[in-house]
Amino acid sequence: MARTSSLPVVAIVGRTNVGKSTIFNRLLQEQKSLVSSMPGTTRDRFEGNVLWRGHFVRIVDTGGFGTKPVDDLEKAMFEQARQAIREADALVFVTDAQVGPQDEDKLIAQELIQTKKPIIFIANKADNATIRGTLEDAAWHRFPFGLPLGICANQNSGLGDLLDRVYEELERIGKQPADVQDVITTRVAVIGRPNVGKSTLLNSLLGEKRFITSATAHTTREPNDTDITVNEKVYTLIDTAGIRRSNRVAQKKVALENLGVEKTIDAMKRAHVVLFVIDISEEVNAQDKHLAGELTKAGVSVIMIANKWDLIPDKDPETINAFETYLRAHFPMLSYAPIVFTSAMTGQRVPHLFEVIDLVFKSRFTQLSKAECKEFIGRAILRHQPSRGRGVQHPKITSFEETSLNPPTFTLHIRQSREDALNPSYLHFLSNLLRDQYEFQGTPIRIEVAARKKHHTT
Ligand code: GDP
Repeated sequence: MARTSSLPVVAIVGRTNVGKSTIFNRLLQEQKSLVSSMPGTTRDRFEGNVLWRGHFVRIVDTGGFGTKPVDDLEKAMFEQARQAIREADALVFVTDAQVGPQDEDKLIAQELIQTKKPIIFIANKADNATIRGTLEDAAWHRFPFGLPLGICANQNSGLGDLLDRVYEELERIGKQPADVQDVITTRVAVIGRPNVGKSTLLNSLLGEKRFITSATAHTTREPNDTDITVNEKVYTLIDTAGIRRSNRVAQKKVALENLGVEKTIDAMKRAHVVLFVIDISEEVNAQDKHLAGELTKAGVSVIMIANKWDLIPDKDPETINAFETYLRAHFPMLSYAPIVFTSAMTGQRVPHLFEVIDLVFKSRFTQLSKAECKEFIGRAILRHQPSRGRGVQHPKITSFEETSLNPPTFTLHIRQSREDALNPSYLHFLSNLLRDQYEFQGTPIRIEVAARKKHHTT
């Protein structure tokens, strides 16, 4: 699970009162709503993991720092900050845009530059354009690391730009932020009606070459889950009860459906990615469609597995297209799911599934900055004005933001007081456009409409 010790560490440094804790809290607060209760995202007062653009870093708030302590207490505090600076891979040096650069800032800067670590120089409290304008004044040119990046932690502005800069610097020195899969174990469930080949597929996934790690401590793993390591990445296969655990044990067939509908739904809810297995040698039936409906409700990411491909005779390059068209017509609600044609029996394309799982898992954490969301919605409106729903007025969009991940969820604020003032077809238009422009393979996108509350000014 959380290999947090290997995450790059970023320390926030600066004088007292420049807003370090606000910045720290903002970065971590965002996380709370984005990745609520996910392992690896716990924090304490001064340290926490931040997920940005699919990668994690560890952020440390160093508390007050300065070069001239007034008493022993402050001396001890500064020493502690120095310790954190020594342990960090990169430093965010915070100053105050409103009071301007102080002598003490310059002394701190001199000390920081000795560390030879990357320094991201920022001026906080840049609330408005006038203050931001002053950041080019001569006084700011006297620092050894260029002009500061203006941000405003209170108004939550510029934090995405700050993280972009931090990540650039870390990559430059070869300290890659940790991939989301290194911190959060990918949970995969195999679901489908009886006899489509689920057990066969699971056994194929658990094939001899893969290392089964059943003893790892794990918060979300239940007794019937199995951990496997493939290419150094850990996956938890959900509800693998009775699946053969080694070659020596004779294959014991267990149909997931015997575990009951509730268990199947529970498995899809615990999974990040569901392999939805269909028997391509038979017609799609009502049971398949029912399961597809449940998958849509669960908000899980889906890969459609068209299994028993070996049973299809006389295949030519057109055959696969014809079957794809057939499946798309039967599962319109899963239009976002990639389709993989497999033979669980012969193992055809089964190893390739892990690549698709990785891609789909990452897509659950695709994160757009505030600026990107704003730009996106601006362009979308130019292409297609918000269409009218039940109200008499044309709806007006006031803001658009990504408010949580896993799966990606956006909130669209409108000026009208009723959510249904916006035609739901507009949400389809937006999610299709998001899919065209960003990586959301296999993943549902949720867009929640927020109407204007009474007495609320926008
Ligand atoms: P489950 O009920 O979904 O777990 O299905 P099983 O894995 O038990 O498979 C049902 C039957 O289909 C068994 O006889 C398997 O050997 C067979 N089967 C599974 N996958 C394939 C496949 O890719 N090709 C062929 N031809 N048969 C398969």
